[in-house]
Amino acid sequence: MASASVLSAWPPTLTDAQIHALTVQATTYALSNGLLYLPPAERQPPIPESAIHAPLALFPSPFPRSIFEHAKRIQRTYNVLYSRIAQHEQFLDRVMGTENGVGKVDDFIGQLWTGWKQLRDEGLVQPLHLGLFRSDYLLHAPSGESPSLKQVEFNTISSSFGALSERTAAMHRYLNASTQYYNASSHLKTDSFPENDTVAGLVEGLATAHKAYNNEKAYILFVVQPGERNIFDQRPLEYKLLEKYSIHVIRQTFDELALSATLDPETRVLRISCATDLHTDGSVEISTVYFRAGYAPVEYQTPAHYHTRFLLERSRAIKCPSIALQLAGGKKVQEVLTRSGVLEGFLSDETKWGKAAFRKEEVDELRESFMGMWGLDVGQDMITPDHDALESGEENFGVRKARELAPSLVLKPQREGGGNNVYKESIPAFLDTLPPKDRQAWIAMELIVPPSGASNYLIRAGGDNQRAVKAEVVSELGIFGWALFGDESTDMIEKEVGWLVRTKGKESNEGGVATGFSVLDSVLLVDG
Ligand code: ADP
Ligand code: MG
Repeated sequence: MASASVLSAWPPTLTDAQIHALTVQATTYALSNGLLYLPPAERQPPIPESAIHAPLALFPSPFPRSIFEHAKRIQRTYNVLYSRIAQHEQFLDRVMGTENGVGKVDDFIGQLWTGWKQLRDEGLVQPLHLGLFRSDYLLHAPSGESPSLKQVEFNTISSSFGALSERTAAMHRYLNASTQYYNASSHLKTDSFPENDTVAGLVEGLATAHKAYNNEKAYILFVVQPGERNIFDQRPLEYKLLEKYSIHVIRQTFDELALSATLDPETRVLRISCATDLHTDGSVEISTVYFRAGYAPVEYQTPAHYHTRFLLERSRAIKCPSIALQLAGGKKVQEVLTRSGVLEGFLSDETKWGKAAFRKEEVDELRESFMGMWGLDVGQDMITPDHDALESGEENFGVRKARELAPSLVLKPQREGGGNNVYKESIPAFLDTLPPKDRQAWIAMELIVPPSGASNYLIRAGGDNQRAVKAEVVSELGIFGWALFGDESTDMIEKEVGWLVRTKGKESNEGGVATGFSVLDSVLLVDG
């Protein structure tokens, strides 16, 4: 197919002087337009005074136009799917709970689930949930087949890079407009650079939740990590909320919230004290809690951190995400969805969903985006845990199969944020040390085989590396969407709102811009 030949010829050939000139233009554009990171913590004064450009790809990456459109289209179905999972308490109890689910062996998931269960028993007052989602994909082209779209994971909490990806797309469009990349490739045409308005889209989601809460004077709370370096991805959402919707944002860490957050015992209205804010009488009411934190166990160092999380959950504010929606984004849920009939139960069961049931073709489209997965604790049927083996310590079928197929697998625990997975040849030694009871917390996933041949110039700030390094690369596409749902009297609202490309050196197993493994990129649509 045409895109395969584009890839092997990518990037087009330019002279060193041209690459240098483009690199200067790219980094200068990044610095001019907020495509930035704060410098590493040891170089940060308490009041920010400098920034470095984000890691970047010099060229946009070729991507088949039809697959890109397809990925955007199926996001609508994914939005609905995850909203239904988050509302299916029995399903989440079974898969993530502490009785027989992952929460039994994974302390972090267990704590979140237990807190959520208690709050449910006591009665939650806010039926609405807001999800700002990102579904991540790689192209799959084993043994030179034409590529298809395969999902890496679905993010339901702290889906990042909306703002920076929009700016990266704009940077590539600018480089093309300004230099036409020295006419190096006929693929670099204006209409091959798709629009990316992710910030406006994500902000519309937050503003819609705010409106549903129905108090114009309320603020949106951004829950953030201490020492966050990725603020230039977060602040633009804040600026747009104020500019377009006159909605104010307050940013706080869990530690700050432990001192500042209170609930009205009657109404469960969440208020945050903020003595510095002149517009208020010492505290503000919160309409929506947007978590850009709270997804990793290290963020919950003490019981007080869980206490704060549960206090926010108990409140009347709309949570993005609710604990239910966070749990729905677990890798274990992703695995369970691949089992026969599970996806269909969420989407196509007409007795359950009536007119809101999806057509078979729409459901099949999602299924086709799945790779094979199984739980490490399972027996021969690949579904039921092999309790005998887990107790005796013998190897159950799921583990034996993972050993056998190790070169084509990745193992994943219930974690987010990068750096947690075990790949290929590291799998056998890892399985040797994994306590049998912990097998339940892990899934095995077949590796996606991206098309080979594409290279790019990767630009990182700092030290001697302030230059473009050519490397063979793999690009991961993310599609953003949002959904507001949960109130039985009103229909859910959902949208697909934009995209992201992260590109990594081929030899690296992981992606992850924040963790230093990859760079921000954008798509160049190619036909065929
Ligand atoms: P996290 O929640 O830590 O981001 P991911 O599931 O996204 O975990 O995995 C991290 C990275 O590992 C991905 O960005 C991708 O580069 C790589 N990866 C994950 N699953 C697969 C897979 N099935 N095939 C190929 N690469 C994968
Ligand atoms: Mg990921």
